[in-house]
Amino acid sequence: MNLPLEGAGEIGRSLNILFDCDLTEYVAERPGPLFYLVRTAEDDDGIGIGVLRCIKPWTRWLLIKGFAAGKEVPDLPIERAIATIRDYLGLPDLQPEVTGVDPWTMNSLYATKCQNRRVFCIGDAVHRHVPLNGLGSNTAVQDAYNLSWKLAFVLKGLAEPHLLDTYTEERMPVGKEVVEHATGALALYPALLEAIGIPAASSSNELASMWAEINAPSEAGKTRRAQIRSAVENMVYEFQTRGLELN
Ligand SMILES: Cc1cc2nc3c(=O)[nH]c(=O)nc-3n(C[C@H](O)[C@H](O)[C@H](O)COP(=O)(O)OP(=O)(O)OC[C@H]3O[C@@H](n4cnc5c(N)ncnc54)[C@H](O)[C@@H]3O)c2cc1C
Repeated sequence: MNLPLEGAGEIGRSLNILFDCDLTEYVAERPGPLFYLVRTAEDDDGIGIGVLRCIKPWTRWLLIKGFAAGKEVPDLPIERAIATIRDYLGLPDLQPEVTGVDPWTMNSLYATKCQNRRVFCIGDAVHRHVPLNGLGSNTAVQDAYNLSWKLAFVLKGLAEPHLLDTYTEERMPVGKEVVEHATGALALYPALLEAIGIPAASSSNELASMWAEINAPSEAGKTRRAQIRSAVENMVYEFQTRGLELN
């Protein structure tokens, strides 16, 4: 389509592992759509954090394992995918049924033009961002809404064709802001991970002793808790975005 793109491609890589497994006993008392999983060990090739996403309570799940930008995402046969799930969940005897393994790339890109002659693009074709904020699908739906009523008006002869120029004019700034906001939210994570000790720990034991320090009634513990509080407060930027959600 040759649409002009601004921003950066391949800012990180991830692996999706879709699986079925009844995890009711672990989550029923603390239900949520997303669970952050910490994995710190010498033999881990990821970034030390994964996300467990609930697809169907509490039997269908997506484990998202993060890799640093430029790092090759390994080809994962089913047995290794199962081992990764057990490892990240800390449940060595779990019997998950893996139904899909898909690598994907994180981008921070938006098109400055959403149309090339008679072809109009919506959704990820014109704005690609990390899933933080979770705005990809609804932005795509609102692109479609914006475009479809205009197409209908032009095709029915109720409006001049240049009404369609307003599609790019109205949607490009939204795509740009959604992309930039998601990338900005991603930039907040290193401070949070730093505060809870993930990059510094090279083993689960080391991480456990750092967390013991966080909980300790000491000056060091107090400082660590203040760092965590400040990092968590900054996450408001990611989670309170009503205007952006409504596009
Ligand atoms: C891990 C992850 C979590 C996410 N979480 C959220 C969330 O919580 N909330 C949210 O709103 N968004 C989320 N998103 C983003 C959301 O999934 C996308 O923004 C959305 O799916 C984009 O829709 P789309 O129709 O533009 O593109 P897609 O969903 O990618 O659809 C494009 C389709 O075109 C097909 N296709 C490609 N090439 C061809 C071809 N040559 N011929 C025929 N078909 C073709 C593809 O197979 C695909 O089915 C997430 C994304 C990821 C990766």
